[in-house]
Amino acid sequence: MTLRKTKIVATLGPASSDEAILESMVDAGVDVVRLNFSHGTAADHIARAELIRDICRRSGRPVGILCDLQGPKIRIGKFENNRILLKVGERFILDASCPLGNQERVGLDYKTLPDEVEPGAVLLLDDGRIVLHVEAVEGRQVICTVTAGGVLSNNKGINRQGGGLSAEALTQKDRDDIVTAVALEADYIAVSFPRSGEDIELARQLVEEAGGHAAIVAKIERAEAIEALDEIIEASDVIMVARGDLGVEVGDAAVPGLQKRMIRSARLKNKLVITATQMMESMISSPIPTRAEVSDVANAVIDGTDAVMLSAETAAGQYPLEAIQAMHRVCMEAEREYDSHHLQAPINDEFEFIDEAISMASVYVAEHLNVKAIAALTKSGSSVTWLSRSNTNVPIYALTTERNTRRKLSLYRGVYPYHIEQPSKDLGKILYDAEETLLRLGAVNKGDLMMLTFGEPIGKAGGTNTLQIVRVGEHRREQR
Ligand code: PGA
Ligand code: MN
Repeated sequence: MTLRKTKIVATLGPASSDEAILESMVDAGVDVVRLNFSHGTAADHIARAELIRDICRRSGRPVGILCDLQGPKIRIGKFENNRILLKVGERFILDASCPLGNQERVGLDYKTLPDEVEPGAVLLLDDGRIVLHVEAVEGRQVICTVTAGGVLSNNKGINRQGGGLSAEALTQKDRDDIVTAVALEADYIAVSFPRSGEDIELARQLVEEAGGHAAIVAKIERAEAIEALDEIIEASDVIMVARGDLGVEVGDAAVPGLQKRMIRSARLKNKLVITATQMMESMISSPIPTRAEVSDVANAVIDGTDAVMLSAETAAGQYPLEAIQAMHRVCMEAEREYDSHHLQAPINDEFEFIDEAISMASVYVAEHLNVKAIAALTKSGSSVTWLSRSNTNVPIYALTTERNTRRKLSLYRGVYPYHIEQPSKDLGKILYDAEETLLRLGAVNKGDLMMLTFGEPIGKAGGTNTLQIVRVGEHRREQR
């Protein structure tokens, strides 16, 4: 049995709101869904989260929920007819006091833009697809000439070439949305446009104050974040290579190299990483990806990303299911061709934690003893982080009583979270059940070697202190 190691994150939207489509997406292999707080209301997000939880309960597969905060992204408002077509050479006005846009002007959700740009500035809309040159600023109006045209639809983002717009990292809307995200039990909350580790720490504090348990994702998407990369990685649990905005700010050609640097740095610091944006872009309107897109996804897998992400492909595209199937197939093939041993693992000279020592030892043994699977009995998932970062090709089955831990582990490369009951404190029985679970899943067969890591006494978070090797079906006869 071969499993996909790289995880798939799919953004939900109008194209993926229907229960039957969502169910087929989960069946096709979505590991984490992303709720994009740049669009929709709190009620929309809560309804989607409930639907996902229902589907998970039915399918028995844990799917994580990532709530992506809008951040201080500067966006245009809405149009009377949802979209317009801009032609090169036309005049177009960004007007902070315009309620509903038309062919001539559009509103701004970021009211101070006219105070922050001057004639000569270059504004890039919709990840750089539309380019406007600022001719003049008159009161609340920014008067521009279109230098690259195309379709412009509701709420698209605005960046200034060279960066530097907007200071605040967590807006009032983000603070309100954190409360919504905690209420819907988000497993991950993503901070957009952070500039520093402090921005991440503030988000973490707000999540804690709201009573949440979500891990924090830092989206690396502005020039300042590259300068503060180490500090941001250290402050967060996960980084996202947010290639859309990042490409606009630093130039598209700088993104591939930065992607590799970010993935390597995150892994070496024992953090997770998601590679995002335009991965299967043409599949918004085509049932098959381009060769270039296939290569892009495969290269992210080879770089060592934990997850690849779909945005508009699943949120608003015509082929959400096909996009997931394509990603699945490309990841599987890339993993088959390239084992992960070329990736550098974060091996400390001295281990600081006991669960770290056990996890590193178990990977070493597993790879030298033809072990078919590692079953990690875990409460918090911390031992599993070490296992996942080791880049082993031995599948890691995370067995846990904790629902939140299962959902969180859905993002980890090479990790398969499963539910396990622990009705008794009888260790022999618990280990026997773990073995049976892996047999039932087809992870091991009778006669295979498998490995168990666990903490004794059982059930303490971060308490992994034991490593056991068993030949499946030969031991614990007394339990049968
Ligand atoms: P977004 O972030 O989709 O929220 O803009 C990702 C990116 O910028 O790549
Ligand atoms: Mn972005």
